Amino acid sequence: MAQHYDLIAIGGGSGGLSVVERAARYGARCALIEAARLGGTCVNVGCVPKKVMWHAAHLAHALDDAPGYGFRLDYFGFDWQKLKMARDRFVSDLNEWYLGHLAKAGVTLIRGFARFVDAHTLAVGGERYSADHIVIATGSRPQVPNLPGAQFGITSNGFFELNACPARVAIVGSGYIAVELAGMLQALGAEVTLLVRKDQVLRSFDAMLREQLMERLREDGIHVLARTQVRAVARLASGALSLHCEGAGHAPNVNAVLWAIGREPNTDALELAAAGATLNPDGSIPTDPYQNTNIPGVYAIGDVTERFHLTPVAIAAGRRLADRLFGNQPERHLPYENIPTVVFSHPPIGAVGLTEEDARRQYGDAVRIYQTRFRSMYHAFTTRQPPTVMKLVCVGPEEKIVGCHLIGEGADEMLQGFVVAIRMGATKRDFDDTVAIHPTSAEELVTMR
Ligand code: FAD
Ligand code: NDP
Repeated sequence: MAQHYDLIAIGGGSGGLSVVERAARYGARCALIEAARLGGTCVNVGCVPKKVMWHAAHLAHALDDAPGYGFRLDYFGFDWQKLKMARDRFVSDLNEWYLGHLAKAGVTLIRGFARFVDAHTLAVGGERYSADHIVIATGSRPQVPNLPGAQFGITSNGFFELNACPARVAIVGSGYIAVELAGMLQALGAEVTLLVRKDQVLRSFDAMLREQLMERLREDGIHVLARTQVRAVARLASGALSLHCEGAGHAPNVNAVLWAIGREPNTDALELAAAGATLNPDGSIPTDPYQNTNIPGVYAIGDVTERFHLTPVAIAAGRRLADRLFGNQPERHLPYENIPTVVFSHPPIGAVGLTEEDARRQYGDAVRIYQTRFRSMYHAFTTRQPPTVMKLVCVGPEEKIVGCHLIGEGADEMLQGFVVAIRMGATKRDFDDTVAIHPTSAEELVTMR
């Protein structure tokens, strides 16, 4: 006889945790099934340990900048092991915190790997569990290419296991993970080669951001090999890895290869066919705007779906689904517009809304662009002189702001407040009428001509 719940979430990451926590608050009887550590990708092998490494890399840049401000530094190097131990402790504290949080919320934690028996029944080991509502929040995993020697490489998961900074590393890919890890490894002492199969990194971002970031990566000493595709990896007698590439670039031998070519949804082991679920060709789960799958009472949220793969998106979708199912808010759902995103490069990128290219495709001549490029006051005293570049994409006679694209020191923290304004329909005039905060970089966003 299966134990019955109002709602079961499969996966204890950002999405699964938020849906059960909110549903339990409404009084629903909830269970969460998790095969590994609580917190999922974000907490264990994603945003959290990544941001720790980004802060370390940021400090490395600050040390380079310090002499410009009059500091004479005796610098004794960087202890990767020490940082890794502190980072791992920080993450395991979070794992523990989630355990207590679930218990306090009254959610039953079921340890193990779930698979569907039918649309409302799951098997975990030898046990059966059923629910009126089942939420699939199983996330995704890093993709490894199918080519000779691919097993010699690591993925972002392996990056977080490294006990030392590799002296020479090749990173293959051109998305978020490739550029973020390239920047961190270079700043912390590695010699980094970034292999990009097309012309530029971050294909879905505004052209201004792509061009600027390509320049910054190269200025920081990263060897960016564009139009270069890896065909095979071999381990040499010396232990080094040699890359056989096709295209414009020739990669040097390295100590580590890191695949950052995208992620694949965790749906293959769920036995979704038993529930009658359909999948997209890439294995992700199609959902309607309310996170419904094609099976009544079965929902999907987060990275396992085809939409934005970001922690706050999985959290917002989970909470709103619980509001709809148990909070008497039948229309509550997450509209997937104006989702902001930050790339933790050096300097960081912040972006929301339409790129200039997309806006022109959609609105033609009604688009007006405001762009500014300047050197922040901080960099007036440093050897490194990366510019800050900002672009506003406006539409129509009222110049409604439909896109905002930033690269520069502080862009990561700057964007959030502006997203509120843009979501509320702000126009260029609203920005112009806002009193600036001086002296900051953010003030340039409300003083653009
Ligand atoms: P996950 O967090 O992946 O959780 C899924 C959980 O399901 C996992 O714990 C898994 O063990 C479990 N599971 C899978 N199958 C089963 C099963 N059959 N039974 C039981 N349990 C199962 N996003 C940001 O917003 N900002 C960032 O800075 C950022 N940085 C990132 C850096 C890296 C290196 C990576 C890889 C990702 C980053 N992301 C970032 C993306 C973010 O981590 C994900 O969007 C988010 O974790 C998705 O949450 P989720 O709940 O959908 O899936
Ligand atoms: P992305 O989807 O961002 O980028 C992967 C890119 O690698 C592809 O777009 C493609 O770019 C390129 N690529 C694909 N296959 C190959 C191949 N065989 N050889 C070489 N290049 C290839 O994936 P990531 O793994 O970087 O990140 C996964 C997701 O995690 C992100 O999309 C994001 O949603 C999330 N994330 C968010 C972060 C944040 O919020 N700061 C940080 C990290 C991850 P092209 O076709 O142009 O070559």
